[in-house]
Amino acid sequence: MKLRKLALCTSAAGLLLWAWVAPGQQPRRVDDTALKNAGKTGEEWLSYGLTPGETRYSPLNQINATNASRLGLNWLYEIGPGGGNQEGTLLMSNGTLFGITNWSVVYAVDARTGKEKWRWDPEVNQATVRPKMCCGIVNRGIAMYEGNIIAPSNDGRLFALNMETGKPVWETRVAYSQDSYTLTMAPRIAKGKVIIGVAGAEFPVRGYFEAHDAKTGAFAWRTYTVPGDPSKPPENEDMRRAAATWSTEGMKMGGGGTVWDGMAYDPEADLFYVGTGNAGPWTQDARQQGKDKENLYAASILAVKPDTGKLAWYFQMVPGDEWDFDSVQQLLLADVVIKGQPRKVIMQANKNGFYYVIDRVTGKFISGQPFAQVTWARGLNEETGKPIINEESYYHTQSIPIAPGPGGAHNWSPMSFNPATGLVYLPASPGGSFNYSSDPNFKYQEGRQNMGIAFGGFGGGGRAAAGDAAALAGTAPAAPSKPLPAPPAIGPTPPEGNGRGGVLLAWDVVNQKERWRAQGGGGIGGGTVTTAGNLVLQVIPDGRLVAYTADKGDKVLEIQTGLRGGMGPPITYMLDGKQYVALAGGSGALPAFGPPPGAAGAGGRGPGPGPGPGAPPAAGAPAGPAPAAAGGAGFPPPTTQVTPKLLVFVLDGKAQLPAAAAAAPPAQ
Ligand code: CA
Repeated sequence: MKLRKLALCTSAAGLLLWAWVAPGQQPRRVDDTALKNAGKTGEEWLSYGLTPGETRYSPLNQINATNASRLGLNWLYEIGPGGGNQEGTLLMSNGTLFGITNWSVVYAVDARTGKEKWRWDPEVNQATVRPKMCCGIVNRGIAMYEGNIIAPSNDGRLFALNMETGKPVWETRVAYSQDSYTLTMAPRIAKGKVIIGVAGAEFPVRGYFEAHDAKTGAFAWRTYTVPGDPSKPPENEDMRRAAATWSTEGMKMGGGGTVWDGMAYDPEADLFYVGTGNAGPWTQDARQQGKDKENLYAASILAVKPDTGKLAWYFQMVPGDEWDFDSVQQLLLADVVIKGQPRKVIMQANKNGFYYVIDRVTGKFISGQPFAQVTWARGLNEETGKPIINEESYYHTQSIPIAPGPGGAHNWSPMSFNPATGLVYLPASPGGSFNYSSDPNFKYQEGRQNMGIAFGGFGGGGRAAAGDAAALAGTAPAAPSKPLPAPPAIGPTPPEGNGRGGVLLAWDVVNQKERWRAQGGGGIGGGTVTTAGNLVLQVIPDGRLVAYTADKGDKVLEIQTGLRGGMGPPITYMLDGKQYVALAGGSGALPAFGPPPGAAGAGGRGPGPGPGPGAPPAAGAPAGPAPAAAGGAGFPPPTTQVTPKLLVFVLDGKAQLPAAAAAAPPAQ
């Protein structure tokens, strides 16, 4: 709109500005049509998942299975100091790359030269916000719309920045970190609205997502995912139905159901999809309920109308969740033929180990199979998709090993879907488990993490998770007892090496079967993109960029970028006739874990959406020193990892990678 006005302007100043904005060609406008069609050419990367259906499939094929081995660095850009992982997906438009750092600093870089155009720092109060971030100081991305970059800051604000100058256009607030909410997910655009949800369900919070006018920032609507204060009437019929599935105590403690990753949009169906997190506190014992309570709409996919946020349908993956099975993982829309019928589906590789295929228009379950070792359930009901939960998985004070654990068989690491192969390329952690038991001494604490589980001793999280959680709690929870035997397992056999290795799975979504797998990666960190060049590009959390043939899984590229951790997913795009691959990574100086002595909140990383057991420790949360022992007595000093960088690769690129010798060893 602004450009059109400039073009029509007859003043000399207007013409000069026009010449400055667009030397040679008119900048392409990022509007609803552009966002909808972005995946058709793959020239630019305009939104988090490239397409509204978040397929991360690029039709580009200049870089392909026969020449990918020639990829080399074109240039790099120093992002800033870091202090967390670079989980953000980069965006590219009109020859500029845009990104966001773990502390919400937004940057724009000339994609031809690597020269910084602008950067903008919302100056988050790190000392007060850090204790409210359960699982790492991260931002997963930004959105782009009508000349603006739309960026969340971890402390709950949402900004629009002029794409050319980086100057704020509008500012609004989604949540307050003082209320234990944070923003870690990438905002999405649908019908002129920017939609974003809140993180924080290890704290006593009530999850929600909300929409603002993308041009002005004006508030449009908010949709809660779980019922609110039981002393007040439910806001609407959906909340009334939800409240009937909760105990009063559970509602008083917030309920959880936060929204911190997966969203997708189907313009034809006029539906916007949202994944919701775990019920809070984690345990049914703490919520003072039995297994008959489903706890709607935690651990679910919600389909809402983008104009109003009103619920159209819901599908709950984990009724009565008490395993931290957030169901916020990537929501991927595809059109596939199942049993001879064309189906419009929404898919999710859930934390809980099942790959779900659901009719995205009606919400009706189509199929679901385990892609990882699963012991919490024996399978899914073929008609309804409801889990057939093993009775012993409902734990109490005696601990029991359950697979997957809180880190999930898949977490936020982006997967991608290639329509030519019919395969989803899924970074998974298929062998994780955790010894769950409820804390007999649990007492609700305002403003603190309230998970209700016991840690330490026989706790299955290993030293890191157990120690973190103990440090996080205001008073050390009880140590669990000797664990009960594990329930029977279904799903693929865990990989070698204590089940902790991550893999890349090529998953046939129609037949619900693994077609091939490759070692490396996992449910947290890095991610994949797939292309028409019969290629899967994968960033592995230890710093590697690798590529496989999409059909067979033959490795055709492996580069150690030198970043050695804190890795975000790759993107690809075309510029001046050449295809590029870009990624960001590196953690920088990591803060010490644990709250400062005497702090009311909690700090460092807990077992929520962070790495959790079974996921490589380097992947989802800062890889640092061993955290404080139970009680949180010690706070080790920060450690220095590789300074965060944006790397851009091209065929026959000859620039020098960050020196591996100067890099810290991969965290383990
Ligand atoms: Ca969680």
